[in-house]
Amino acid sequence: MSFAGEVKNELCRTALSRKCCAQAECYGILLYSNTYTAEEIRIITENDAFAQRLPALFKKAFKLTFDRLPEGEGKHIFSITQPRKLEAIQQVFGGDPSALALHINFAVLEESCCRFSFLRGAFLAGGSVTDPRKGYHLELATSHLSVSREMLALMREMELEPKAAQRKGNAVIYFKQSDRIEDFLTSIGAPLSAMEIMNAKLEKDLRGSVNRRVNCDAANLDKAVEAAMAQLGAIRRLEESGKLALLPDKLREAAALRLAHPEDTLSQLAEQCDPPVTKSALNHRLRKLVELGKGEGK
Ligand SMILES: [Zn+2]
Repeated sequence: MSFAGEVKNELCRTALSRKCCAQAECYGILLYSNTYTAEEIRIITENDAFAQRLPALFKKAFKLTFDRLPEGEGKHIFSITQPRKLEAIQQVFGGDPSALALHINFAVLEESCCRFSFLRGAFLAGGSVTDPRKGYHLELATSHLSVSREMLALMREMELEPKAAQRKGNAVIYFKQSDRIEDFLTSIGAPLSAMEIMNAKLEKDLRGSVNRRVNCDAANLDKAVEAAMAQLGAIRRLEESGKLALLPDKLREAAALRLAHPEDTLSQLAEQCDPPVTKSALNHRLRKLVELGKGEGK
């Protein structure tokens, strides 16, 4: 499965708790879906988790069912064509879906819980994100230009700082910076995916800087990066379980130095100890931390 698919799966595990948020999520989906007019709502997706969430979501939001449900394999197609259902939905969102341009009705998004749900819906229907091992790019695309413009304003107000562009008749809102993508995914309900991006970035940076600094062969480089990753992981687990604070001063100092300088070599870290210690003494302490960390968490 693609990384974008994994992100959507995680988003679809978000509980359907409040009706206001379910409606806001539907609203995001509709504005970023294939068809949203006075005559028809049509949502097409390839993601199985999203396809499973849709009927439950619309039921929670409007107490209504789709007129057409997916059949068989491949793309999942959902649609609503019955006038009384379309009217019920339009009453919640206001505006006129048959008008030339769709707009975001901000009255639907007054609560901040609803705003994040709205973004989640928009991402599920019109979003994609690149595998962080290949690059950093997340985008939301819609054919409704004014919706995209208003979405940009909304996201800026929420301090998410996206950029905007147009591409083949679609309006696109995008992020290129890994930390912005992490913030966005965390806020809409995909913190684990955000963590994956953070780890991919950390590992990439680590490899880059160790590569620049140490002129050694590939095997040593891998070893240095792996050792540092293992140390960071162990220290974080000890921190989460509260055991780090209980360790002797020397171990806590080693942990703090490693956390503060993930990319430093052993000798660079050893020099920063107070008082400075030998490389092998520090190595011993870091090994001890890794050993202790093995018993903690995942
Ligand atoms: Zn809400």
